[in-house]
Amino acid sequence: MYYHKILVIGGGLAGLRAAIESAPRVDTAIISQVHPVRSHSGAAQGGINAALANNPKGADDNPEKHGFDTIKGSDYLADQEAAELMTKEAPGCIYETEHWGCPFSRTDAGKIAQRPFGGAGFPRTCFAADKTGMYLLHTLWERSVKLDVPLYEDRVLVDLVLDGDACRGVICWNLKTGELEPFMAEAVIFASGGSGQIYARSTNALISSGSALAAAYRRGVPLKDMEFIQFHPTSLWGTNILMTEGARGEGGYLINNNGERFMTKYAPKAMELAPRDIVSRSIQTEINEGRGINGGPYVYLDLRHLGREKILERLPGIRDLAINFVGVDPIDKPVPIQPGQHYTMGGIDTDVNAATKFKGLYAAGECACVSVHGANRLGGNSMLETVVFGKISGRSAADYVLSKKDQKQGESAVMNCLRETKAAIDRLLSQSGDENHADIRAEMRQTMFEKCGIFRDKKGLDEGLAKIRELKERYQKVTVQNKGKTYNLDLIRCYELQGMLEVAEAMLVGALRREESRGAHSRLDFKERDDVKFLKHTVAVYTPDGPQISYRDVKPGKYKPEARRY
Ligand SMILES: Cc1cc2nc3c(=O)[nH]c(=O)nc-3n(C[C@H](O)[C@H](O)[C@H](O)COP(=O)(O)OP(=O)(O)OC[C@H]3O[C@@H](n4cnc5c(N)ncnc54)[C@H](O)[C@@H]3O)c2cc1C
Repeated sequence: MYYHKILVIGGGLAGLRAAIESAPRVDTAIISQVHPVRSHSGAAQGGINAALANNPKGADDNPEKHGFDTIKGSDYLADQEAAELMTKEAPGCIYETEHWGCPFSRTDAGKIAQRPFGGAGFPRTCFAADKTGMYLLHTLWERSVKLDVPLYEDRVLVDLVLDGDACRGVICWNLKTGELEPFMAEAVIFASGGSGQIYARSTNALISSGSALAAAYRRGVPLKDMEFIQFHPTSLWGTNILMTEGARGEGGYLINNNGERFMTKYAPKAMELAPRDIVSRSIQTEINEGRGINGGPYVYLDLRHLGREKILERLPGIRDLAINFVGVDPIDKPVPIQPGQHYTMGGIDTDVNAATKFKGLYAAGECACVSVHGANRLGGNSMLETVVFGKISGRSAADYVLSKKDQKQGESAVMNCLRETKAAIDRLLSQSGDENHADIRAEMRQTMFEKCGIFRDKKGLDEGLAKIRELKERYQKVTVQNKGKTYNLDLIRCYELQGMLEVAEAMLVGALRREESRGAHSRLDFKERDDVKFLKHTVAVYTPDGPQISYRDVKPGKYKPEARRY
């Protein structure tokens, strides 16, 4: 059995930042299904928010304003204390990564440059060209190498060991050997990223399946606000590869079939830079009402007026993607785009210390819900969350382990869990039914996009729920074709699908019960926000018969909920 005091699940920005914080104090190891620099964080393009006030247009910016924008952007569902903590910590976290070597783009005076992004209305987003996530990820990875943090890669977390109210470790599938491996720990930090692959048309990497989150959920770890899914306005038509909001931040327009900048109708002040929920709904409305290009399911992102030089300097990655995946050079032609699933606002229920209700279990980054994003995340606030709360989770876990008297207590709980997981995997490998798990996955993803998507109503959500329950039944009859050991992705994809279906059900039930429209949750049958009934977090707890839902009041703060106008 492997043993480390702290195990960090995930080598993305949140996981690396957590490990960098705890490793100098307490023995810490990282477990990841891919090499850390292949985590989805590396695909982040546009940038990371911090009120540095380096740009003359944002000269009077400060963390308090950033906090207010985050809370307003969240449609007041964020816990204000958490949002304000994040924005207060932001400048320090940016300078820290700068000092560790992150090559941020610069102003003429040599300061960290900022671009308009994420609902501020002026430049607040720090960036490194249009590959910010990749630069940050490599910076943190190098730092973890410097600290000699042990890494277990090609390991997929398949189960979480809980023993009463304490976390004792995890069970992983070693992709190379095809063996299950028990890991014991005093504390576990989940930093396993988003669950975008539950949806069709996702901008997320294939590994962003939510498999680790689902394993925790199935063991009784509560999930919060799972009905809030962000749809990014601009993903490439066809592949749904992201075209960063930074493209609009640099001045890009959205154009319909009549050549109109239609955002004048929906957000006359903020225009293309209104929060993502609003821009996505606006694009989808244009498409639904027949003003997509040639009546089709996309509109144009037009960058031509920015000129060749600016596109090459500020948006080189966007240009490459458009050329390679739709054959369009944005210097000469507008790019066809449509909204795509992008971000999971909800996640593992944590407090501002990144702690869950289980002793020794923490979560940070996209898999967690603190909540700082509430019903809608602002662009550039997600990478910020990973570094701020990654750091906090590392500190909390190290404090906990150093204060813990009874160490190395969990061995029998870990071995019991290992036996249960092994039995489940053996069962899956030995059964032969007439269902193909790839078909079930595709149907789940399509159902979620269609029935629990940008616009929702009771009829669609009921249909979606019935479909997901049917898929859960059909899952009982799947066959894993590949019985081999080495890199058996057939088995792992099949195994994780069960958890994805459970999480999909929690999303649907949460969406069905929330009879209001707030942020990214837009109900056609309940168009208004209802602060009397629903200024509350949804908490879902797994039961074999479906999620048990309860509500928790949003922690009040100094800002009273107002109508959002942009
Ligand atoms: C295309 C794209 C562009 C984006 N652009 C921006 C942007 O400009 N600004 C911004 O703020 N945000 C952006 N985001 C969002 C942001 O990048 C992510 O929310 C954030 O990087 C997530 O970081 P993370 O560390 O929580 O997770 P990830 O980076 O997703 O890392 C998850 C880690 O967990 C591991 N893992 C997952 N499941 C398991 C398992 N079962 N077993 C073992 N390991 C597991 C993976 O191997 C990986 O190492 C973007 C997202 C996408 C998809």
